[in-house]
Amino acid sequence: MPYTKPKFVVYGMKKKTLVAVIALLGLSSLSSLNRNENMRERAQEKMRQMALLKDPARFPSSDKPPRYRPFSHTLREELKKVDYQVDTVDFCPFAANGDGLYQNLGYFDEENKKITIYHFRDIRVWNNETSVISRLNDFDARQAVLAHEYRHVINAGYDNSRLNLRDYAQSLRDDEISGCIASVLLKREKFLDNGDYAVFDGSPESEYYAEAVKAGLFYPQFGKMSRLEQRVLIIAGGKIWEQNHSAGYESLFREKIAAYAGEKDFAALTRNTDEEYRRLSAHYYTFKFDGRTIDLSRERPEPMPLSDDMETYVKILLFKIKTREILESGRQTMQKLASEIRARW
Ligand SMILES: [Zn+2]
Repeated sequence: MPYTKPKFVVYGMKKKTLVAVIALLGLSSLSSLNRNENMRERAQEKMRQMALLKDPARFPSSDKPPRYRPFSHTLREELKKVDYQVDTVDFCPFAANGDGLYQNLGYFDEENKKITIYHFRDIRVWNNETSVISRLNDFDARQAVLAHEYRHVINAGYDNSRLNLRDYAQSLRDDEISGCIASVLLKREKFLDNGDYAVFDGSPESEYYAEAVKAGLFYPQFGKMSRLEQRVLIIAGGKIWEQNHSAGYESLFREKIAAYAGEKDFAALTRNTDEEYRRLSAHYYTFKFDGRTIDLSRERPEPMPLSDDMETYVKILLFKIKTREILESGRQTMQKLASEIRARW
């Protein structure tokens, strides 16, 4: 279920995020990398990269007739086969935790295995911002939502019921971050058609991705995905998700975590499930595109810590479960004792 904060609420944080996230990735020391490498070789490589960026066959300029290199259409072709329904609803974002507006764009119904994508009726309340609505309704935006929801379908193919409570809470977030990465990859594929950055507009993670390409952090135009690009997708992607989308999912996640806790005993909810969580992450973050399979989870040394609120919530639930078990076993001991006493006297 992706939510987006309408443009007028959210953006204007791109540059700041870029710096913050690069710091997170440890890229500030980029200049100190490969210090011992032959400098001339590096300079030549850089020039070759820049030349490729301007390669008219890849990114035709307006004064030359376009001649497209055959980049992959794999993701688009795959999405054409995905079954979904379109539901027309009013565009009416809701407030979450008082810190922003969120609009649900579609959802995957886990029970009925059905994807729904929203088409927005222009209710004229947002009269001066109608562009937000028409942009959400356009083909590319809707296909990006479909890529996100379809990723939930793929992720749902992995059973997440073997995790302890904390790892389960992590997995809910991973499911969403993975959905957001799926959308960015689809946009990446479209971007490679013509080099038009506009395809990345509309969501913080893909706008960040576009900024990183513009800044020359990596070159999707090479066709190959560098490790740095992979790190930006998963680590920066996760961080951006936390900053921009997490609040919209807060109550939904709490409900799911409480339901999960209610199904299991304290031992199952607290045992070490590191290995199981690692396998789940590999499933959630493995993407097929452009004839390749890449497991982005390998580029994430460890998951982002849960927010303080979520961490506290998980601890409170565990405390409740433990208390319930102690009371229950205490009750059973008392009953046993009572029946023994009755039998003896
Ligand atoms: Zn989602």
